[in-house]
Amino acid sequence: MTDFKRDGSHLAYCPPVEKWDDWVELDPEAWPRRVEKHYSLVPTVCFNCESACGMLAYIDKETGQVAKFEGNPMHPSSRGRLCAKGPATINQIHDPDRVLYPMKRVGERGAGKWARTSWDEVLETFGTRIRKAMQEGRGEEVMYHVGRPGADFFMERVLQAWGIDGHNSHTNVCSSSARLGYLLWHFSDRPSPDHANARFILLLSAHLESGHYFNPHAQRIIDGKMAGAKLAVMDPRLSNTASMADYWMPTYPGTEAAVLLAMAKVILDENRYDAVFLKNWTNWEELEVDGFTAKGQSFEAAIGALKEHYAQFTPQFAEKESGVRADVIVKIAREIATAGSRFASHLWRGSASGNLGGWQPARALVLLHALTGSIGTEGGHSLNHWNKFVAKPFKNPPPQTRWNEILYPPEWPLCTHEMSFVLPHFLKEGRGRIEAYFTRVFNPVWTYPDGFSWIEMLRDEEKVGLHAALTPTWSETAWFADYVLPMGFSSERHDLMSQESYAGRWIGFRQPVNRVLRERAGEKFEYTYQANPGEVWEEDEFWINLSWAIDPDGSMGIRQYFESPYEPGRKVTLDEYYGWMFENSVPGLPETAKKEGLTPLQYMRKYGAYEVNRDVYKQNEKTLSESELAGAKVEQGGIITKQGKAVGVMINDEAVVGYNTPSRKLELFSKTMADWKWPEFTLPEYYRSHIHRGAQAASLERSADDFDPKYAPVVQWPKDAHGEVYTLLPIFRLPNLIHTRSGNAKFLYEISHKNPLWVNPEDAKTLGGVRTGDLMKVHTEIGFFVLHAWVTEGLTPGVVACSHHLGRWRINQDENVERMSSAWVDLKEVGNGQWKMRQLQNVSPYDSPDADTKRVWWSDAGVHQDITFPVHPDPVSGMHCWHQMVRVEKAAPEDRYGDIFVDTNLSFAVYQRWKALARPAPGPGGLRRPLWIPRVVRPADSAYYFKK
Ligand code: SF4
Repeated sequence: MTDFKRDGSHLAYCPPVEKWDDWVELDPEAWPRRVEKHYSLVPTVCFNCESACGMLAYIDKETGQVAKFEGNPMHPSSRGRLCAKGPATINQIHDPDRVLYPMKRVGERGAGKWARTSWDEVLETFGTRIRKAMQEGRGEEVMYHVGRPGADFFMERVLQAWGIDGHNSHTNVCSSSARLGYLLWHFSDRPSPDHANARFILLLSAHLESGHYFNPHAQRIIDGKMAGAKLAVMDPRLSNTASMADYWMPTYPGTEAAVLLAMAKVILDENRYDAVFLKNWTNWEELEVDGFTAKGQSFEAAIGALKEHYAQFTPQFAEKESGVRADVIVKIAREIATAGSRFASHLWRGSASGNLGGWQPARALVLLHALTGSIGTEGGHSLNHWNKFVAKPFKNPPPQTRWNEILYPPEWPLCTHEMSFVLPHFLKEGRGRIEAYFTRVFNPVWTYPDGFSWIEMLRDEEKVGLHAALTPTWSETAWFADYVLPMGFSSERHDLMSQESYAGRWIGFRQPVNRVLRERAGEKFEYTYQANPGEVWEEDEFWINLSWAIDPDGSMGIRQYFESPYEPGRKVTLDEYYGWMFENSVPGLPETAKKEGLTPLQYMRKYGAYEVNRDVYKQNEKTLSESELAGAKVEQGGIITKQGKAVGVMINDEAVVGYNTPSRKLELFSKTMADWKWPEFTLPEYYRSHIHRGAQAASLERSADDFDPKYAPVVQWPKDAHGEVYTLLPIFRLPNLIHTRSGNAKFLYEISHKNPLWVNPEDAKTLGGVRTGDLMKVHTEIGFFVLHAWVTEGLTPGVVACSHHLGRWRINQDENVERMSSAWVDLKEVGNGQWKMRQLQNVSPYDSPDADTKRVWWSDAGVHQDITFPVHPDPVSGMHCWHQMVRVEKAAPEDRYGDIFVDTNLSFAVYQRWKALARPAPGPGGLRRPLWIPRVVRPADSAYYFKK
């Protein structure tokens, strides 16, 4: 496909826009007769991952029902293409097991009994409880906890309007280690690789098949390859991505930084670095390392010190650590140097989220970009906030002045996001309680480690007063809520999104397609649930109405933010909320719309997306204008400040914006790390992960010179844990699954529904001749799970692997459950904190309004491994380190497929051992965390300080 053009001239097979009102196709079900079907095509945005690809809903003109989803060719990021998960939205909206009405529990929490309630009752109940908490000064007991965000800034604004520090997210089980590594370099916590224009692409993990911006990135990686770029993949598994690569580097997990630093050494030693870029744009003048101080020294002397410091990272050392051949490391380093400014890379989960110290591979990777001058360049590595556009709504509330220590506790002052996965342990330690808890498209009982600790927390009404699960599907977490509130899928809701998916900035508008179409025809709806199936609502209208319920007369100062910007005093509608943004906050959109005789809102409803601009490279070099410089002064190091805040930097006598770091340059040397008690990590480094072979030896009480207990706690095996010690990779995803929401997408489950244990043939021999299909028992530090083996050469020896996304279970056999994706289980607490789960019934065909449910041919729902993992908060980034040291053996005769056992007393003890390795705040000046490090919903600066 040629590149996106706003006039649609890049299209080959997609319906042209002028035919969207009456698109004609032949009815496949009528074949061999030629029967025409007429559709209205309405754009929306996929909700099945965070890429926000553009979709077209094909609405059958005869039935008024959505018949299918295809790509929206007018969307600049996805360019008319979707992955398998986008079209599967059709399954989700027509799923006979979906939640259609607001439900309230009857009986005890977790008993699985529900009755229908009304939206008015829900708003009244939560409005009253939250108002009371706020009036009693307990606003921090209100918590919003998001799994899939799928929107930009809406909730941040709601929470700041409420004046509370109550935003929690899933990010610390996902990407926060990678984010810390990126952030320390350049403030931006996400990379935005320009794959399409690169000459060499290095992927750490499986981004081509299942990356964070999967479809938009995959097509641009292929664009790059077709234009001659080479692709290298570092991954212990022979993933589909690795199979497409020119180089596959099957690293032993956790050693990736050693390989990257060895590449950096090659580039330094061979003097193939970009000296001009390094000299201008890194803070080399602040370098202090191994007794060398750069202050007053030449650039060349600083480079010499770097060479000496990284001398230990020989390719041979990296080979010994990682298993990747030294000559391959050298070859790739030279290819990267040759690509120069056109070197692109991506790291998001994989090694970053699997390992203790997982933030170091991101730092080491950016070192390669700094050395090659490939930051902000065409074909290089860019910063997410340069390529993402977040439109601002009307009337924004001030930042909250409180600090919630359950979200950002003092032990992890450098965590980029909330310490969400240890919440049950915080409550167990008596650090606080929750009065009103909203989980939003979020299923921690199933997707988090240590799910039984979550069950224990959620069922305790002292700890969690009132819990609403805002969800499109039934889930393991929803069963432990008080209310299950049905929220819409992609075609049933509004959201505005942008992602840094290529070298350009864009917005995508998700919209409830049936409502939009019926309003076009003249119908009127007050709320989206009136046009959706059942009473499925959307969060935007829910939060607006809840804000009014909390502050009905406006006396708390909340309601004002949810009144119409055009008619204060009246409740804002979503047409007004988004219409105001499109008119006032999106450069160029009003003019573009006007050319077609449309308002900006009509334009977005018609096309579903808008490309804001492509002038995105080298934003650090933007010169400061005269007005920006008025009243500014140049401080030490060339930093330009205005009213006490850094606004730019002098580079070669020119005043430019620079980066949002303390030095306004790329921070090769991080003084922040030294200031916050990690002086050994001021430079990108490699240190050994919690699953390194040294850590394995220590767990067996064998001597291990290469294990340092300062960074990793010694694993203490439960008494009945037997078998050989392995590293378990539990976080690779199957490209067609979507966490919890694939459970109601029959097309997707038909493709993938098993998650066996990958075992290398060498290890299969060591384990006593394991064959594919044998039943294996995998012991973790807190319990075990039982599953089948899959013997495969597509995995590094010494490592076993099991995909996440599978192993759904349900406690009810038939009612209020997703039957095609889950096993019916017997769940028992057999002692204090000791939990057993046994599968009673596999997936089987069943009667429903969808005839396909009688045709379900698969029986396996997989095995839920995550629930047997203890929490591993990285002492620096706070991120859960997902990889597990496990003991593997053949299952005993009494073990059955899917058996699970966990002792949550052990999980609490593991949490304590990891917590002890953190180095808590305060930092300099009594700070809770560095002022320059952002938060999702940033409080006022004053809240960053501990109260005296
Ligand atoms: S990559 Fe797939 S799941 Fe993600 S938004 Fe695009 S189509 Fe949807």
